Amino acid sequence: MTQPAATATRDEPTPAEYSAQIRRHLETIRRAWLWLQFPTTTPGGAPTGKPGSRPPIPVDPLSLRAEITHDLAYWCHALLEDHPEGRRADAPLLDLTDVPAMLEHLLAETRWIGGWAFAKRMEDELRYHAIDARTIAWPRTSDSIFLGECPVTIGAGGEAVTCGGRVRATARHVGDIPCPRCKTKDTIEGWLLRIVGTDRPVTIPQLVPILAGRLGVRVDERTLQRWHKAGRITPCDGTEGKPLFDRRHVLTVVVAREAMKGQRSA
Ligand SMILES: [Zn+2]
Repeated sequence: MTQPAATATRDEPTPAEYSAQIRRHLETIRRAWLWLQFPTTTPGGAPTGKPGSRPPIPVDPLSLRAEITHDLAYWCHALLEDHPEGRRADAPLLDLTDVPAMLEHLLAETRWIGGWAFAKRMEDELRYHAIDARTIAWPRTSDSIFLGECPVTIGAGGEAVTCGGRVRATARHVGDIPCPRCKTKDTIEGWLLRIVGTDRPVTIPQLVPILAGRLGVRVDERTLQRWHKAGRITPCDGTEGKPLFDRRHVLTVVVAREAMKGQRSA
C-alpha cells in the first residue's frame, strides 16, 4: 500500500522539513515522558475537554500518556506494514507498549519519514502531543510575566511615537525591569502605573477580564473573592457588598504570585 509521496508545493513543507518537524516533536515527547509520569503539578479537577479538543489548560497526564502510547504504537505499526523492507531480520520485536523504545524506533526512521505519504498526518498528530506534553512537563516555560506594552513616548525624528516594547517582569528583576525596546527601567508598580494608568477602581467581576487581557492570567471570580476574604487583596473603596479595587494593586499581587510560581518551577 505504499503511496508516492505528495509533491511539495510552496505552502506545504518539503519532505526534509517534515522530517525535521517530526524529529522535533518526537524529541520533545521523549524529554517530557518522565515528567508525564511524575508531573510537578496536576490540573485541578477532572479531566478536561472532549476527545480531539485542545483545552487551554493541560490535559490530565494519564489521558495524555494513553493517547501518546496508542498513537506511537499506531505509527510504528503502520511504518512496519508499509515499509517491511526497513526492518532488519535480526531486529528485536518492538514492544508496542514501551514508549521510549517506540520513540527510539521512530527517531531512527525520521531521515526518510518526511517523504512518506502519511508524513503530514503524523506531523499533525505528534505536534499536538508534543505541545500537551510540554505544557504538563514544564508548566511554566519562562519565569517571566507579561506586564503590557511600553507606553513611553520616544521621539523619532521629531515625531512622537509610543514605544510599544513588550515589558516583562521576571522573578529575578522585580525592582528594575527594563523595556526591551527603549530601555526605560521601572518597578512593577511603576510599569503598571504607566501602562494601566490611574483609572477608577473596579469590582471583582471587572477584574477577571482585566487580569486575563492584561496579564494572560486566568483568575476566576471565586478565587478573587477568596483572596479578598483572606486579606490578600484589599479594596480601596466601595460598600461591603460591592468592594472596589485599585487594579494596579491587584495586578501587583498577581504578578508577585506568578513570579513565586516561576521561581518554584525553575
Ligand atoms: Zn519602551
